[in-house]
Amino acid sequence: MKQHTNGYVGNRVLKLNVGFLLASGSGHIKDTTLDIPKIRVAEDVDLDYIKGTLRLTRIKEGILVQGKLNAGFESECYRCLDPIEREVTLQIEELFAYPVPRDSEFSVGEDGILDLAPLVRSEILIEEEHSALCQPDCRGLCPECGENLNRGACACADEAIDPRLAKLKALRDQMR
Ligand SMILES: [Zn+2]
Ligand SMILES: [Zn+2]
Repeated sequence: MKQHTNGYVGNRVLKLNVGFLLASGSGHIKDTTLDIPKIRVAEDVDLDYIKGTLRLTRIKEGILVQGKLNAGFESECYRCLDPIEREVTLQIEELFAYPVPRDSEFSVGEDGILDLAPLVRSEILIEEEHSALCQPDCRGLCPECGENLNRGACACADEAIDPRLAKLKALRDQMR
């Protein structure tokens, strides 16, 4: 069942206040646990859940974010196009720079807010590029009629008789 978009929480919950860590010296650590259902990470990324624990470490260059997040999202089978629920593990190891140098991809804002949303979004988009199947032996769609072959053979199968079977059938017809 596809939930209406309004059922998703906004990505504000991915903003972490790390002001206290910035104020403490290098080497200070804070573990933070995420357990968020139904979240709109970005315009193009909705997750059914994201959870896991991240370790935030204050280093000279900013905040180092490390850990594993598990996320679930709706996708479709690469072969038969049926909707599937995908579960992925995101290995996170990223520097959020502070103060912000020009060339850094991720950074902590001047207000001490570390926003995980852009990082989660890019990780999910990478995962989405890997094709997934509804089941390891998905039979896909019939190239002739487009029928989903996981739900049974289509009519095309009757027409395409195996040549060896055709020979047998001819032989049997002769013997009658
Ligand atoms: Zn499939
Ligand atoms: Zn067919």
